[in-house]
Amino acid sequence: MNSVRIEDKIFEILLENDQISKRTRLIAIQLDVDYESRCPVFIGVLNGSFLFMADLLKEVKMSCEVGFIKVSSYNGTESNGNIKEIFGLPENLHNRDVIVVEDIVDTGLTLDYILGEIYKQKPSSVAVCTLLLKPEALRTSHEEVEYVGFEIANEFVVGYGLDYNGLGRNLKDIYRAKSLESH
Ligand code: 5GP
Repeated sequence: MNSVRIEDKIFEILLENDQISKRTRLIAIQLDVDYESRCPVFIGVLNGSFLFMADLLKEVKMSCEVGFIKVSSYNGTESNGNIKEIFGLPENLHNRDVIVVEDIVDTGLTLDYILGEIYKQKPSSVAVCTLLLKPEALRTSHEEVEYVGFEIANEFVVGYGLDYNGLGRNLKDIYRAKSLESH
């Protein structure tokens, strides 16, 4: 499918599932090398990361633990950075190697908040693995963002876990909005 319609918007193909799978396999190989003989805790950020997390973890060979957290969600096409609470954060991260798995890092405000909460537990290391990164939208730099699937332009994307008004998460490929609404 080269384009899809979701509610009022037309989206066109940006990344095919094949490209995503190949990149995911390479990231998993890199993680296996970097975390050799350690046992990290992978923490997926719901809802957007559910497909990436599943595909990534199927490729990772190391022994590891897996959990998910949920933060307040994104509304429409503009990140509001208005995060209130994290649900489900494991409480035993002290001295652990933590890998946060994100679908997308846009302004980085969500990540700021999540990392702040994780650091309170004094883990031994924290890294971030994000499928997508929008470098132009980033407001704070994070040295923790060590694993990036694809850098994309500052445009709204859906599919492969990412939604538009709750829809489109089940699309296999990633699509970008054909024209942005004027704000
Ligand atoms: P940030 O706090 O980095 O600005 O945004 C983080 C969250 O905003 C992501 O986890 C994601 O839920 C949402 N988000 C940011 N950009 C996009 C986008 O292009 N498409 C979709 N569907 N969600 C996005």
